[in-house]
Amino acid sequence: MGVLKIMVFRLILMFFVFGILLGNAQKAVKENEVIHDKIINIQIKHLEQSFKNAFNNGEIDEFRALFDDDMRKRNTTTKLQENFTQISNQIGPIRSLTLDRNNKSSYTYRSVHQKMVTLKVVFDLTDRGQVSQMKISSDYVYDDAPVLERNTSELILPFHDEWYTFWGGKKTSDNYHNTYPGMKGAYDFWVMGDNGKSHRKGATENEDFYAFGKEIIAPVDSKVVYSFDEVPDNKWPAMNPTSGTGNVVLLETEHKEYIVLGHLKQNSVKVKEGQFVKQGQILGLCGNSGRSTEPHLHFQIQNIPDFAAAKGTWVHFKEIRVNGALKEDYIPRRGDKIRN
Ligand SMILES: [Zn+2]
Repeated sequence: MGVLKIMVFRLILMFFVFGILLGNAQKAVKENEVIHDKIINIQIKHLEQSFKNAFNNGEIDEFRALFDDDMRKRNTTTKLQENFTQISNQIGPIRSLTLDRNNKSSYTYRSVHQKMVTLKVVFDLTDRGQVSQMKISSDYVYDDAPVLERNTSELILPFHDEWYTFWGGKKTSDNYHNTYPGMKGAYDFWVMGDNGKSHRKGATENEDFYAFGKEIIAPVDSKVVYSFDEVPDNKWPAMNPTSGTGNVVLLETEHKEYIVLGHLKQNSVKVKEGQFVKQGQILGLCGNSGRSTEPHLHFQIQNIPDFAAAKGTWVHFKEIRVNGALKEDYIPRRGDKIRN
């Protein structure tokens, strides 16, 4: 009995001693992990800042210093500079870079650019925190984007006098925009002359179109999220296929609806980013910039500011005259002559 007791006691003692050692070792590993995480966190913050500096200010070498050898060989300073410049020319510098998710050594970012387009940027890091891979793509998906069934803000039409609805309404045959989720519910408006056309007889330039140069006004009290008016107007009948909405004002309503007024005239935009505008206030003039075949206003409401990732929605106007008759909460459709 006595021997057994001692053996059990020794066993317990051994476990106890071993237990202490094991505990210390675990504590040490944990401390190392915490230190490692802290270092990685500092490196990540440094990487974010360096990427922004490289992209926005051309500080490429500082950014490349964070790459591992292989990555540095694959991406010369010149090559990186060229790629960044090419992207920046299209969508502008980075406004904000936020970490979206982190899966082990892979870090995915939401990179929002000046022209309201978001890119997905993924960095893969080595154990030592060096960049072993970088992927930049335009397929960023907003998981947190709200669904917008229609507008709740009470809107007036964004112009004075009578305009004509060339594309508009819920039927795709009335409104080609509906075939693209990003432009669902959008309108193309122009002004019809007494001749039943959008332009004077023998039109040769933008000025011959009745809509060109007309005042575009704010449909509701809102905040200017983005405005741009540096694209030259197309020389009708030529078209600029690369610039999309061309010169544009993007408004945010109090209900977080994002109103797009596109194809505005070059150098005509009168409002600045961050400015609050009143319903009826002049935003700019109707033009023929971007993907536009003739002077007109492209008007739509979307669920988020991002032009590439947003979804369009049905746009109802509070109280307007449609072909002379008063209509409430109305969606103009192709062929409607409308005015406030
Ligand atoms: Zn359009």
